[in-house]
Amino acid sequence: MATPPATAPALVWFRRDLRLADNPALYAAVQSGRPLICVYIREADPAFQLSPGAAADWWLHHSLAALSQALDVRGGHLTLLSGRSESLIPELVRRHGIAEVFWNRVDWPWMDARDRRIADMLKSNGARARAFRIATLIDPPALLNGSGTPYKVFSAFWRAALKDLDPRTPLPAPDRLAASPETAGDTLDDWCLTPRNPDWAVRFPDRWAPGEAGAHKRLERFLADSLSDYRNHRDRPDRFGTSRLSPHLGWGEISARTVWHRVQLHAERGGHFQDADKFLAEIGWRDFAYYLGHHFGDLRHTNFNRDFDRFPWRDDPEALAAWTTGRTGVPMVDAAMRELWATGWMHNRVRMIVASYLVKHIGCHWREGMAWFEDTLVDADPLVNAASWQWVAGSGADAAPYFRIFNPAAQGKKFDPEGHYVRRWVPEVNGLAPRDIHAPWAAPAGELAMAGIQLGTSYPRPVADLKTGRERALEAYRTMKAETVPD
Ligand SMILES: Cc1cc2nc3c(=O)[nH]c(=O)nc-3n(C[C@H](O)[C@H](O)[C@H](O)COP(=O)(O)OP(=O)(O)OC[C@H]3O[C@@H](n4cnc5c(N)ncnc54)[C@H](O)[C@@H]3O)c2cc1C
Repeated sequence: MATPPATAPALVWFRRDLRLADNPALYAAVQSGRPLICVYIREADPAFQLSPGAAADWWLHHSLAALSQALDVRGGHLTLLSGRSESLIPELVRRHGIAEVFWNRVDWPWMDARDRRIADMLKSNGARARAFRIATLIDPPALLNGSGTPYKVFSAFWRAALKDLDPRTPLPAPDRLAASPETAGDTLDDWCLTPRNPDWAVRFPDRWAPGEAGAHKRLERFLADSLSDYRNHRDRPDRFGTSRLSPHLGWGEISARTVWHRVQLHAERGGHFQDADKFLAEIGWRDFAYYLGHHFGDLRHTNFNRDFDRFPWRDDPEALAAWTTGRTGVPMVDAAMRELWATGWMHNRVRMIVASYLVKHIGCHWREGMAWFEDTLVDADPLVNAASWQWVAGSGADAAPYFRIFNPAAQGKKFDPEGHYVRRWVPEVNGLAPRDIHAPWAAPAGELAMAGIQLGTSYPRPVADLKTGRERALEAYRTMKAETVPD
């Protein structure tokens, strides 16, 4: 095969890396000196779609608009294509005589074989594929324990990761891009990613600024306002104590490495080392989910702990519907589920509480909750979501033991002591005092009457009573254990 001329274009294939700064694929493509064709493909094959659900689609629309604008001002252009990447990429290469194709890996395990197939096809067309691993701070294949096997416990994993974790300095965004003549493609509106019907589509813009500039602003605001109290406030859904960077990190609008460096620098200047360490360890949990995906495969469909294949999950469509719509009768759960619907996001503490209530008190399979989260979270990430659901369900790596069952009323008292969070999202119980607001079913009749609450009418009774649900969950666990054959 003849070597392509120096004037042959290079293709940059954007995926979950919707940024210009610290983008190794884009950087290397610019360094190649070739004219660039930049594409984003809306994948037609459901197995390889990058946007897991409707809320993530909303985010994607705005993020692509921001990326497209950022490329335009540097002389570049983003072409939007829809179809199967496996056909479209080789076709582009043939049509434009492309010499090299650059991309950053998504690092979802089910993508790898497809990406390798594309790289092989390119090779046979005389083009070179260059892929970069950027999703995580660590290098998943390289990090192994003393016996040469993957870590399964987060603390050991993170200790080992920190030993030689030295994320290299983030790469700068290119100033100018030498774009190839425009390639025909779709418009963002063709894709209809921003539905008008659900009320969230209208409300989201108040809260979020998708895109690289929004990601950097969000990080700076977190550093200025919240990092110094991160350890104290990170578990409080009633405060603005966490970064809310998850959708920006998920869509790759900012790299984990950039966050790492910026946080370290800020901590050195302000002396907030312990808060910074705690915050970076949370990014470590994200890395851990990707690490598990790399070493143990697709956790969306398989229990990490196979004993759970025998778990007697319940089928309760009514309770599931009450859970998704924030009508379970448990204020902390309802507040969180309504926050999710209204904003596309939910605080980590309440993610754990709602997940525990669904899989333990109600008894539904963790996959039911995972699917709802995938559709409604703007930060939906198939690997992190699956690992987190399995963590709560007890079936995951280093999971919370199944028999440690969160009591959502006690959790509410601890992490929303004045009831501000619940009041904001569940106005029906607004009139109750902090001591009663997390368990209206246990409030004295007089207090309920004064607050204008009629249980079962103005606000539901719990769809799963905390005591009965807990006992039923423990019984189900005993059943699973009894049927488990020891190794
Ligand atoms: C049932 C369940 C499902 C979840 N699904 C997702 C998901 O689909 N996508 C997602 O990004 N996170 C998910 N998480 C993890 C976590 O809740 C969110 O990352 C976090 O709430 C995002 O808020 P933040 O950016 O303010 O977090 P911060 O506290 O500011 O943390 C900084 C970053 O660290 C990462 N992080 C924080 N906590 C965790 C965690 N427990 N596990 C993995 N990474 C973490 C995120 O990238 C986050 O942006 C889930 C957690 C649970 C319990």
